[in-house]
Amino acid sequence: MNPIFSALQTSVFEVMSRLARETGAVNLGQGFPDDPGPEDVRRKAAEAVMTGWNQYPPMMGLPELRQACATHYKRWQDLDLDPDSEVMITSGATEAIAGALMALITPGDEVVLFEPMYDAYVPLVRRAGGIPKFVTLTPPAFGLSEEALAQAFSPKTRVVLFNNPLNPTATIFSAADLDLLADFCIRHDAIAICDEVWEHVVFDGRRHAPLMARPGMRERTVKISSAGKIFSLTGWKVGMVMAAPNLMRVLAKAHQYITFTTPPNLQVAVAYGLGKDDAYFDGMRADFQRSRDRFASGLQGLGFSVLPSVGTYFLNVDIAPLGESDDTAFCQRLVTENGVAAIPVSAFYAEGAVKTVVRFCFAKHDATLDAALERLAAWRKAA
Ligand code: GLN
Repeated sequence: MNPIFSALQTSVFEVMSRLARETGAVNLGQGFPDDPGPEDVRRKAAEAVMTGWNQYPPMMGLPELRQACATHYKRWQDLDLDPDSEVMITSGATEAIAGALMALITPGDEVVLFEPMYDAYVPLVRRAGGIPKFVTLTPPAFGLSEEALAQAFSPKTRVVLFNNPLNPTATIFSAADLDLLADFCIRHDAIAICDEVWEHVVFDGRRHAPLMARPGMRERTVKISSAGKIFSLTGWKVGMVMAAPNLMRVLAKAHQYITFTTPPNLQVAVAYGLGKDDAYFDGMRADFQRSRDRFASGLQGLGFSVLPSVGTYFLNVDIAPLGESDDTAFCQRLVTENGVAAIPVSAFYAEGAVKTVVRFCFAKHDATLDAALERLAAWRKAA
């Protein structure tokens, strides 16, 4: 068996969701919304199942969805994308990331990663033959520095895997961070794989800035997004990949031998959804922001030290001021003894730099958040 995969543990999301089911805990661990997602988008998918095409769609994705992507990213991020040669649809962003790593890495290439990072990154990089080089980000800002990048980049750097907005920290990289990273990519002739699945889930009036739009990055960036995050439909697994034609030709080779296509009915619905007016996107952000504020003030009222959340639907607390030093043990106790599932952020660090941050998902109904706060209050009382 392949040692990279046989040595892996079950993903922390699966472990926590299973524990939550077994114990009847309120699940604020794995990130998925309580809300079922926009009804009109779901209805489009249902109609397409009943009256549309249910055989293989084109390998690169339905033309109407690729066009919808080009139109959407022009409107929201002022990107000029050719739908025929620069847009591809995959079965989720994780497929897009896996495919991009397989397509771009030659064994022995170095890959720059920013920890904390999504738990799929390291095994996928290693399995593709890449050698991970970590830039360690620390609370509360989780920002970049010239020194940290200089240590991670080398003449062997081939790929940079960059997640912005960043899960699990709920932060957004600054304009200065993006310029710095672009400069390093250009100087080292590296390709940036940008996981931007949270691009629409940003708060307090912010607007997402894609790395691809930085000078010199258009030809060396693979931009990846996901309908699951844009429409709160995490089970759909419809990913979108944008890259210059010479990169896309190779990315398409990986996709054609991984999943080949993505369900056509879901593609029809996503094409429709991407064209929704500003009110949908603004409303989605406003709803999440309201939940964030409700949950944050509840946590603060209980004496938790809440870190800023400006993007994604996660909120982190630093448990060190509560006298806790091990987030994994803390989350284990919280789910089994107190009935709330959360995610220990140390699970996202390869080198274990930070061990006292705990992530909660706030994309939940008020009643769910309030039930969690009640249980946390009982825990605080007992502690
Ligand atoms: N993206 C989701 C999160 O961060 C989890 C996805 C998964 O369960 N693999 O919670």
